[in-house]
Amino acid sequence: MKRDVRLAESLLVAIMVSVSAATGWQLWASHDQTLAAADTNNLNLANALNIYAEGIFTQSDMLLQGVAETLKADDDARLQRVRSLVERQKRLLDPLDGVAVLDARGDWLICSKGQVPRDTSSADQAYFSHHRDTRSNNVFISPPLRNPATGEWGITVSRRLEDDKGRFAGVVVIGLGLQNFLRAFGTIALPDSGTIGLSTNTGQMLVLYPYSEKYLSLDFSKSANFQRHFAGTSGTASFRSSVDGMKRLYAFRKSDRYPVLTTVAVGRDQALKAWRRQALLTVAVVAALLTAVAAVGWKLIIDIGRRIKAEASLMAAREDLLQANRRLEILATQDQLTGLANRRSFDEVLAQESRRAAREGTALSLLLLDLDCFKSFNDAYGHVAGDQCLRAVAMALRRSIRRPGDLVARYGGEELAIVLPSTGLHGACKVAGLMLEQVRALGITHSKSPHGQVTVSIGVATLRDPQSHAPEQRLVEAADSALYKAKQSGRNCWVSQEECVEA
Ligand code: GH3
Ligand code: MG
Ligand code: MG
Repeated sequence: MKRDVRLAESLLVAIMVSVSAATGWQLWASHDQTLAAADTNNLNLANALNIYAEGIFTQSDMLLQGVAETLKADDDARLQRVRSLVERQKRLLDPLDGVAVLDARGDWLICSKGQVPRDTSSADQAYFSHHRDTRSNNVFISPPLRNPATGEWGITVSRRLEDDKGRFAGVVVIGLGLQNFLRAFGTIALPDSGTIGLSTNTGQMLVLYPYSEKYLSLDFSKSANFQRHFAGTSGTASFRSSVDGMKRLYAFRKSDRYPVLTTVAVGRDQALKAWRRQALLTVAVVAALLTAVAAVGWKLIIDIGRRIKAEASLMAAREDLLQANRRLEILATQDQLTGLANRRSFDEVLAQESRRAAREGTALSLLLLDLDCFKSFNDAYGHVAGDQCLRAVAMALRRSIRRPGDLVARYGGEELAIVLPSTGLHGACKVAGLMLEQVRALGITHSKSPHGQVTVSIGVATLRDPQSHAPEQRLVEAADSALYKAKQSGRNCWVSQEECVEA
């Protein structure tokens, strides 16, 4: 029964734990899926923007090569040809701001926008010193520069010019306005905290959307995050920005052809916003469900407990009742003083045995036994001693009974009766003799008795005709009359219906 309660409790706990675990697992899995989907989106976007950036730098490179080729013809019309080349390209290359050609000292030779400003030198510019000092035909992309004429920010893409002998002859440089990049990046829908960045492979920021002038000077070349997370050709990473401290999901892609890197980032919290709302809803629904299950389950467990208690007390009451019944049964059939069957029980057994004798045609005998001079025993030794004597005689008689069907009963007062089923007169007389012996063997002193000790007289009778009317009553009467005769014969003896034998 208690096991049922424990089972119900375990079942309830198992339901709660498994539903909680399954919900937690499902939420965690969808959390990871959301992050993975955000990474995939970011990476796709970074790839697309890399293609866009590569396109611009390829066009710029082609223009640089075109200008360099045009400059090889050493005539007066070359400036005009450079200008028309730039004009043609401008329609195709949105960010193109202008083209300039510098000589080996850094002085401006040609400017696509018109007259070369007097005494204009770019010898101190990074791109100039790079090309002067590096013998390479690769393009150089500069950090953001402010155009002194317009005040607008841009980057330059430049190439080294060489003379016939391979000596440094100057630089051809293209200016690209950042506004065009920012306009292109601005067409992409990003969450609030999203960013798109274009930087050099070494970590020098070129363009960062949303635009802020202070970001233009950022250089991540020494940043641990940059070195650790942007090492391969492309990939994703999640870390806290060293610029604004916000945790973002980053995707990056490096160009295969130019030393630039495109990054797309969205705030981690923003990326998880929809998931968090869904998770809260799920948790609330599951928590409400589990609370309801727990409440109902708990109530059921309490009910089971109550029922078990009620059943237990019912069982205890039933057991008490059975015991009381058993006691009553014993009380109803047993004599309190001697522990022998009582008169009621004697009557029932005698009636039953006489019916059996009639049915089966067997003999039935009865011994009626009376303590001799018992009144004077009580008078001499007191009632308590009389009771003890009666008990001792009763036990002695019970001991002399051999067959399980025989019954020793207290007939009344100091009179006892012994029912002997399937026993003829001869056998009954033998039992009577044995009983006389047993009582005598007790050796209880009785100074007022002519025999000097407690003795009994026994009347023996056997039922001759069990089919007759009221046979048990006749049997008792016969035994009683035999007992009377035994008393008459001087006591301490048994008398059967025919004979009297001295003990
Ligand atoms: P006898 O039978 O030999 O003729 O003499 P008696 O003295 O035994 O005969 P009587 O029937 O006159 O007395 C029976 C006495 O047995 C009366 C009573 O004092 C005593 N007696 C009967 N029942 C009990 C009992 O339960 N306890 C005790 N102590 N005495 C009992
Ligand atoms: Mg008597
Ligand atoms: Mg007597």
